[in-house]
Amino acid sequence: MPKKKSVSQLSKLRQKLLQNLEQDDNGCWNWCLSQTGGGYGQLIFEGKRIYAHRASWEVHKGPIPIGLWVLHKCDNPACANPSHLFIGTVDDNAKDMVSKGRHYLTVNPELAPIGELNGRSKLSEVAVRYIKSHYRPRHPKFGRIGLANKFKVSTQTIYLLLSGQSWRHVG
Ligand SMILES: [Zn+2]
Repeated sequence: MPKKKSVSQLSKLRQKLLQNLEQDDNGCWNWCLSQTGGGYGQLIFEGKRIYAHRASWEVHKGPIPIGLWVLHKCDNPACANPSHLFIGTVDDNAKDMVSKGRHYLTVNPELAPIGELNGRSKLSEVAVRYIKSHYRPRHPKFGRIGLANKFKVSTQTIYLLLSGQSWRHVG
């Protein structure tokens, strides 16, 4: 059984989470502080590095069963809104990626729609060039969240373009 956090631990954790989450237009609660390379929110709690979305699940829903993942319905790794999260296995995560079309990025990148032709993309090429040239990690205005707010897209969209998984054709 996973170790259950005490009531006082949970309330401390809840406070820490709520201070650093910002709701965006999609209803996502985006983590404002440190993010992992994959775009997941992370924080230090009682000397341990933990994921913001997993912490949020524990605070709002209860302990996470060992071996299971907390996955995103909204496809936004920085999001810690418990109503956007669900518990699943590694297999569920893979199926989820396939159902959302993201598997093209890893399995068959040339089949993925590119740039403005991609239905999910709301950025123009001008915006992409701006983001690529202005991005500064964790900067309030030119960090991932600042740029996402400026162009009214998700932080995931910014992450994908900065990491070269989308808009690779725009230099
Ligand atoms: Zn969300």
